[in-house]
Amino acid sequence: RERAREILESAARRDSNRLGVEAMDLLDAYGIPTPRGSVVSSPTEAEAVAEDIGGDVVMKIVSPDILHKSDIGGVEVGVSVDDVRDTYEDLVVRARNYQRDATILGVQVQEMIDLDSGVETILGVNRDPQFGPLVLFGLGGIFVEVLEDTTVRVAPVSESEASGMLDDIDSAPLLRGARGRDPVDEAALVETVQRLSQLVTDFPAIVELDINPLVATPDGVQAVDLRLTLD
Ligand code: ADP
Ligand code: MG
Repeated sequence: RERAREILESAARRDSNRLGVEAMDLLDAYGIPTPRGSVVSSPTEAEAVAEDIGGDVVMKIVSPDILHKSDIGGVEVGVSVDDVRDTYEDLVVRARNYQRDATILGVQVQEMIDLDSGVETILGVNRDPQFGPLVLFGLGGIFVEVLEDTTVRVAPVSESEASGMLDDIDSAPLLRGARGRDPVDEAALVETVQRLSQLVTDFPAIVELDINPLVATPDGVQAVDLRLTLD
């Protein structure tokens, strides 16, 4: 809780009310699993982080001016260590082409998560003037807008409410191992819903938050992307 407060305060000092993957530590502080990695500000640093992670990595532009990173070519998946330096430069060039004066905080170098064994879900929060924070859960990834398969509860969300959210969505069978796949770790999902609900209950300054995707696998969950707005 203290760590979360520090992260939010340092963001406020930077005078930005929109945070992205650079705020992943916030989730970490509340016990929500995130892929290994960090935000760096040079190709050399990026290479060092990639070597540390080992194997291919994902690289993402980090900028408060870029909301949908992949829309502008700001996400590269499966980058080998040899390509990390060039990819760093590419990502920055694409961001500059998109918006010349964009604030660029750096590039995130992140561990690859196996999406094939998992389901991309979305977990988010919106603050309603009447009900307060609403927690939203549903099918994530590229299908969010198309399928609109989501469900909502008022925070704080109890364990049984969180578990009910998993039952609610049309894609529930996907979580339970459709087509011979292993079912995802539902207990980890339920716990993550509750932890996020606790985070936004503790910090009213968070007016909006999206984890998309929250990858649910048979071995647990991973919050792969984060976007949030402070008031
Ligand atoms: P944005 O939503 O801003 O475009 P994301 O960080 O969500 O950026 O990345 C876009 C997509 O790239 C994700 O929905 C996911 O399919 C894939 N992706 C992102 N990070 C990872 C990762 N660490 N491992 C595997 N796939 C990833
Ligand atoms: Mg995303």
